[in-house]
Amino acid sequence: MSSSDEYDVAIIGAGIQGLGLAQACSLQGWKVAVVEKMPEPLTQTSSRSTKLIHGGLRYLEQGKFALVRQCLKERRLLCKLAPDLVRLQPFYLPVYKHSVRSFWCIALGLLCYWALAGFCRDGAFSVFWGKRAQKKASEAGLNCDRLSALFIYNDAQTDDRALGLAVLKSAKALGAKLFFCTEVDRICKTEQGFELRGSAFNMRSRVVINAAGPWVDRVHGALQPLPKALNISKLAGSHVLFSLKADYRHCYLESPEDGRPVFVLPWQGKLLIGTTEKQLQDDGELETLACSEQELHYLIAVHNYYFPARSLSADELVASFCGSRVLAACKEKMHAAGREHVVWHESDFGAYWAICGGKLTTYRLYAEQLLPALARALGYKASLRSTRTLFLQK
Ligand SMILES: Cc1cc2nc3c(=O)[nH]c(=O)nc-3n(C[C@H](O)[C@H](O)[C@H](O)COP(=O)(O)OP(=O)(O)OC[C@H]3O[C@@H](n4cnc5c(N)ncnc54)[C@H](O)[C@@H]3O)c2cc1C
Repeated sequence: MSSSDEYDVAIIGAGIQGLGLAQACSLQGWKVAVVEKMPEPLTQTSSRSTKLIHGGLRYLEQGKFALVRQCLKERRLLCKLAPDLVRLQPFYLPVYKHSVRSFWCIALGLLCYWALAGFCRDGAFSVFWGKRAQKKASEAGLNCDRLSALFIYNDAQTDDRALGLAVLKSAKALGAKLFFCTEVDRICKTEQGFELRGSAFNMRSRVVINAAGPWVDRVHGALQPLPKALNISKLAGSHVLFSLKADYRHCYLESPEDGRPVFVLPWQGKLLIGTTEKQLQDDGELETLACSEQELHYLIAVHNYYFPARSLSADELVASFCGSRVLAACKEKMHAAGREHVVWHESDFGAYWAICGGKLTTYRLYAEQLLPALARALGYKASLRSTRTLFLQK
């Protein structure tokens, strides 16, 4: 890449957020570049998720109704746009006499989930009691001891990396350019826009979007003049994979240790169990993220509690991965759309945006929501085109 390269929009980071933005911006006919420090796209958080395209039942407990509604709408749309990649599945949610969340709490939550999905058929759920609950649960291999009810609701599952690659394919077909092994370490504001620099590259762009995921604050710190630091925290979560030795259903369970929700999911011929949650104290930890022994044993304990006849041991582990998510605090200059997704922008720093957080599920929606601001910065007057009709293929 040489200094003569000049773009309308430069996006830092080829995770799902960066690629979704590249697709949406290229669709407008803008000249788009995505710069990624790794040799490949989607090697970080976007391939280390629970692989769900979901409303997020647990967000209801936190009162995030608007977020859940948005996610459920996106779930419906992505099932249509990428039917080979995003598929609805029945999820089993057992309630026991000793569960932290009572029968009524779950029933109310699922009713709310259904209402937020617009009472559509794919948002409906069933509930089983007594002998019917015992029968269904035992067919699924679930522990039936002190079982009081079994709920079955729908959510969607995907292959996060494959979904991201389909978005990348679409963005490339629309004209986006991708540059790998290209780490941005300086973003200098110029009269025309910005100059992005790394050890072996130099690029000019009128607009810059920082979509560096858990490195968003580090890239933000590369902006000159230096803005105020982002007010974010980082959480890491691990998943483990085992061979699929029995006929498992998709299960949403409660850890017997601390009541946290944990998924046990058949996925691509394996059994995926996750996630844990820990606060990252130090940025250095990002480079060495891995599932710890303690997390492995925690996840195995959840599995073995609910599937006593299918007990797993640590030496059967096939693979594990750990990803980090950004949580943004809603402070001044942060335009809050909920703690899960905040976009930093301040006019003193020109046409620069930093994406803090976001979910796999909402990558398309949030990319589209940023378009009007980007169009204003580029002086683009034509009406904006929506990605909601762009089909995604493997
Ligand atoms: C454990 C866990 C489970 C999750 N499960 C789900 C789920 O089931 N469903 C859901 O909807 N969401 C889920 N999420 C959230 C979702 O996975 C993330 O929000 C999303 O993947 C973040 O994507 P991203 O593009 O922002 O970040 P990333 O995928 O991390 O991409 C950022 C990219 O920026 C690059 N980069 C960094 N610094 C530089 C630099 N200086 N120069 C160039 N490139 C740089 C990185 O190499 C990386 O490729 C989960 C998150 C976690 C942590």
